[in-house]
Amino acid sequence: MRIVVVGGVAGGASAAARARRVNPDAEITIFEKGEYVSFANCGLPYHVGGEIAERKDLLVATPELFWNRFRVAVKTRHEIKSIDRERQTIEAIDLSSGQSLSIPYDRLILSTGSEPNRPASKVPWPSNVSHLWTLPDMDRVLETIRVNKVESAVVIGGGFVGLEVVEQLHRQGIGVTLVERNAQVLMPLDREFARIVEKHMQDKGIELRLSADLEEFIIESDRATAVKLSDGTEIQTDLVIVGAGVQPRISLAANAGLAIGKSGGVSVNESMQTSDPKIYAVGDMVELIHGVVNEPVRIPLAGPANRGGRIAGEHAGRGDSASMGKILGTSIVRVFDLTAACTGLNEKTLIARNVPFKSAIVQATHHAGYYPGAEPMQLKVIYSPTDGKLLGGQAVGGEGVDKRIDVIATAMHFGSTVWQLAELDLAYAPPYGSAKDPIHMAAFTACNDLSDAPRLVSPFTDLSNFQVLDVRTSAEQSALPLANAVAIEIDALPVRWTELDPAKPTVVVCHSGKRAHIGACWLRGHGFRDVANLTGGMSIRSLMERGPSA
Ligand code: FAD
Repeated sequence: MRIVVVGGVAGGASAAARARRVNPDAEITIFEKGEYVSFANCGLPYHVGGEIAERKDLLVATPELFWNRFRVAVKTRHEIKSIDRERQTIEAIDLSSGQSLSIPYDRLILSTGSEPNRPASKVPWPSNVSHLWTLPDMDRVLETIRVNKVESAVVIGGGFVGLEVVEQLHRQGIGVTLVERNAQVLMPLDREFARIVEKHMQDKGIELRLSADLEEFIIESDRATAVKLSDGTEIQTDLVIVGAGVQPRISLAANAGLAIGKSGGVSVNESMQTSDPKIYAVGDMVELIHGVVNEPVRIPLAGPANRGGRIAGEHAGRGDSASMGKILGTSIVRVFDLTAACTGLNEKTLIARNVPFKSAIVQATHHAGYYPGAEPMQLKVIYSPTDGKLLGGQAVGGEGVDKRIDVIATAMHFGSTVWQLAELDLAYAPPYGSAKDPIHMAAFTACNDLSDAPRLVSPFTDLSNFQVLDVRTSAEQSALPLANAVAIEIDALPVRWTELDPAKPTVVVCHSGKRAHIGACWLRGHGFRDVANLTGGMSIRSLMERGPSA
């Protein structure tokens, strides 16, 4: 049995190692066009910033290790040009010698990854403009920083990688401007959660240029001295790093006639087999079934790439395998002192797909508030208004965001509702969590909403048609005013609630939604029939009122 793997990083390396574990006799070879296999591409930004001090720590496995430990042969600097499915061969070029080779396979595993988008590509990029996609990219960026004594940088693209790069360049003492063509950073988050991240970046001194696209580089002597943006402005810079999204590298598969799905990724089954059962595809190049909408999607992340590689390797080596399962796009990023994470679908996507939803936003601390060091987080759960099934989750805050998003992702994997989320038996001691964990608080809030006990309204609801009760303190009200509200502090409500009209639809507002819930329950208990709580409260509403540059 000859198993040939094309692409030797996340998915390809996992596939080869798993194939060997299930099949001691197969001849297994990895072909990788780059110089390295199994390097930690996710770690590249952290070496640029110096947090991962040693470059060698990024080399997770070497060709020598693959051979010595697994008896897997690795051919670096070998690019696969074509697949002959009839003859079951692939054509390779040895990039060092220029020699062409024809290699037979019994099973072929493709993990050719993504190609980073290349804006402003009409001219060759100057020497101080780079992606950060490979080890050579990283070496080039570090060399530019060292030789050119870089003081300012522009990062194009406010996605996960772009934000990591921003943080790490700032860590090097470089002044950074982030250019993002959308109106917000981190598109998988809803706008208000992205605003929290944007504000934090601005507080750290990062210049944000949202809704602006890169037009061209202003070049002097093969160096970009400035970037010109779509709004006509120019930003002077010593270095440009482009992280403007990726496209799946599917030409090898497409030219071989393998089926390509609607999303633009290679179609695969549960064992990662393509339309040709002898050929597997994994990682960024494939489409997988989304757990919420049950449709094929492309979400280029390391987790699905590694798991897919393991399954393809298992099936290629043994003839059967576990199932790939569905994906939720669960992802996380650290941006200075904040962590932002999400899973499932966001509100924007649900609106675009006409899927009805409701959301609950809570503010909580990552462990008991009375225990020193409690860090705040904003947590949102999105759910079906009919059966309470979880559709998505988002969290932004300090410590503990990772744990909460993973709990929501796990619950979603098993098709849970917000009621089931509320039932979870989670670990608690003061240094770790709260007896009612932020997960429970979000679930309780959503359950209250669905039971109209009382219901929630979006933080951005037009309040002009409601009687609005503001239960915050006068100091809070002065700091973040809310127009046309009846101001009655929560502790005065048991006496002053008679000042309100029980016949009018009423929205109760506080800073985070917690006191507003108490106020809304009070009113409900005293004959107000139509009462709602503004979820997330003024802490969220004010983010959007002030806009990104506030
Ligand atoms: P890759 O790991 O990119 O491997 C593809 C390989 O195939 C490449 O080495 C390429 O040279 C080779 N190849 C392509 N065509 C050929 C050919 N014709 N012949 C031979 N070889 C070929 N994901 C996360 O989930 N979390 C993160 O924090 C995260 N951070 C990231 C940070 C950076 C800077 C980068 C670049 C990516 C990050 N990712 C992250 C994304 C993650 O790394 C990818 O989703 C994952 O590596 C995809 O795996 P893959 O096997 O499909 O492709």
